Amino acid sequence: QAKLKGGNIHVIFDKQMHDYALRLLWIEEELLDAIDAGDIQVYYQPIVDAKSHKIISFEALVRWIHPEKGFIPPDEFIPIAEETGLILPLGEFILQSVCQQLCRWNNEMGFDTKVGINLSARQFSQPHLAELIINAIEKYQLKNSVIGVEVTETMAMTNVDNAIGILNSLREIGVQVSLDDFGTGYSSLSYLKKLPVHTLKIDRSFITELEHNLDDQAIVKAIVAMTQQLEFNILVEGVENKEQVEILQKLGCDYFQGYYFAKPMNAYDATQLLRGIDKGFIPPELPFYPDQ
Ligand code: C2E
Ligand code: MG
Ligand code: MG
Ligand code: MG
Repeated sequence: QAKLKGGNIHVIFDKQMHDYALRLLWIEEELLDAIDAGDIQVYYQPIVDAKSHKIISFEALVRWIHPEKGFIPPDEFIPIAEETGLILPLGEFILQSVCQQLCRWNNEMGFDTKVGINLSARQFSQPHLAELIINAIEKYQLKNSVIGVEVTETMAMTNVDNAIGILNSLREIGVQVSLDDFGTGYSSLSYLKKLPVHTLKIDRSFITELEHNLDDQAIVKAIVAMTQQLEFNILVEGVENKEQVEILQKLGCDYFQGYYFAKPMNAYDATQLLRGIDKGFIPPELPFYPDQ
């Protein structure tokens, strides 16, 4: 009986592996063509000030909309791109798209906005990362401070000394660094203190149930208390309702990002939003952000 059961598990496992391998191959084959075909685009999700709810920046989130297969989530293709090395050309495309968009916004509206770009582990450890970013910034004649990067807590903690070196090279060129998915990795406080990071992004998993879950509230409270000493900004991602906003404001968080304010949107919609055309949302006012 046990053997039979084991056998079945084996069969299911094989089928999953097989499906995964096919999917991996398919994504690997299609990804670069998808960039050329314009099926891969950068979407922008606003980040707002916790008190005024004014937009202070955006997070760049990549979207792949395949003409036949529809939406392919980044959680699926980013890890495959990472595994196959395609993340480097994809990452370069994303960097260029963002810089080009920032340049357009500056030309059309006369003010600078900020965009944070997600980096995967391979991108983070590629040689001359700071140089790649500076080249794109210069190509589009942007201020260095308009580009931010997001690296996960796990990436920063995996090889801390190395990470500190890379993060310092980014800081030197004026790029702001956020620690993404904070709370899901294993940060040691003594290391956290050493990281040249501006902002901690508290992971969405602590927020999903926040209004019903006192443990999650206690965790957020503890993170805020701990980081006040270390002078990090606290950004909360995945804010979906008013109750959460109220709790998080009381806890002293600095910035919010989530569906309650806005979903990630394409460049056109983000432009409309910046122009203040979307009346359901508090338009940004000049000066666009407090310089930090
Ligand atoms: P992340 O960097 O932690 O991004 C936040 C994710 O939370 C995004 O998912 C965003 O759409 C989602 N989100 C934001 N607010 C809410 C909310 O209120 N409710 C819910 N349910 N979700 C919310 P997305 O766009 O699917 O991206 C997933 C992950 O894929 C990202 O997590 C990031 O790790 C990766 N990713 C996305 N774009 C890029 C990229 O351009 N480059 C790299 N290297 N990774 C990317
Ligand atoms: Mg992110
Ligand atoms: Mg995140
Ligand atoms: Mg996340």
